[in-house]
Amino acid sequence: MPAFADYVAEIAPLWESRWLTNHGALYEKFLAQLAQRLATPHLALFANGHLALETILEALEVTGEVITTPFTFASTTHALTRTGLTPIFADIRRDDFTLDAESVRSLITPRTTAILAVHVYGNLCDVDALQRIADEHGLKVIYDAAHAFGVSRDGVSSAAFGDAAMFSFHATKVFHSIEGGLAVVRTPELVEKLQELQNFGITGPETVPSVGGNAKFTEFAAAMGICNLKILDGEIRRRGEAYRAYLDRLGGVPGLYTPPQRPGTEPNYSYMPLQVDAAAFGADRDQVFGALAEAGVGARKYFYPLVSDYEAYAGRFDSRRTPVAARVADEILALPLYADLTPDDVHYICDTILGARA
Ligand SMILES: *Cc1c(COP(=O)(O)O)cnc(C)c1O
Repeated sequence: MPAFADYVAEIAPLWESRWLTNHGALYEKFLAQLAQRLATPHLALFANGHLALETILEALEVTGEVITTPFTFASTTHALTRTGLTPIFADIRRDDFTLDAESVRSLITPRTTAILAVHVYGNLCDVDALQRIADEHGLKVIYDAAHAFGVSRDGVSSAAFGDAAMFSFHATKVFHSIEGGLAVVRTPELVEKLQELQNFGITGPETVPSVGGNAKFTEFAAAMGICNLKILDGEIRRRGEAYRAYLDRLGGVPGLYTPPQRPGTEPNYSYMPLQVDAAAFGADRDQVFGALAEAGVGARKYFYPLVSDYEAYAGRFDSRRTPVAARVADEILALPLYADLTPDDVHYICDTILGARA
């Protein structure tokens, strides 16, 4: 949370303007700050990341089959299904859990029109390999960058890759506006299309050229985003300290694995993932999870189950076809990570994890 007084100062003008939503002054202010921070001009803010993703798929007129990952949050796959598209699950890489480019290649059919990849835990996908495959086959590339706000590679922002990207500003993310989402596209025409679709398809007082929904971003959310943007760098720095404290304790332990930050990457430390190989470690993921719960530590099995194992998709997918994803889902934990996590907290959590061994 930002300082209370800072938020109050940001929203105070709303009691004068009475302009609460539909692209008010704070929307414009926040959008300009984001354009600068992400070094990319063609943006639209949304009520949440999920609706930004659905609207991107509609605005880009994606059809047919989309190759994507089952190792993600429900939103990624649901966005495809809810916009009438067919998700095709490729496997993930062992090292960083992002989409495996060769697996993607093997699943392309005449019906494939796009790749929807996720920068899992803020680790950037192999964007060059995915773009190469997309270019060879005339596919669009869309990134679910919900985890990757503030991440860059060799000075290039995570917003720069692919035909479009979605960021989530949900309260649980490293940077938030209570609820909120950002769509990044490559042309002003697509921004207009996104704005039309997020506002009932309305383009003027008497013109409604398309069947849009409502996914608009309020002035109160913009104010929260503006305040949080000011404290983001400090938040990321302090998360980094906690992250390194975890690695000091867990880094060399046989059977425990955290995806490394790739060289040249400016990370955002959005998550502290830990993969537990039961045979090498001496306890499995669920035993570690149970020991943490007993010690009062709220770790999460993130992402588990695989989307392809959701009840909602029963009978449609076979998770054995993505063996790496299936294994990681069974072995993964996300440990608590936030700026106020103290070194003592980290030691307590690590003692509990290491003590879970028989
Ligand atoms: C949070 C999240 C979303 C959805 O974003 P919301 O803003 O909560 O709608 C989508 N994909 C991933 C990977 C997420 O973590």
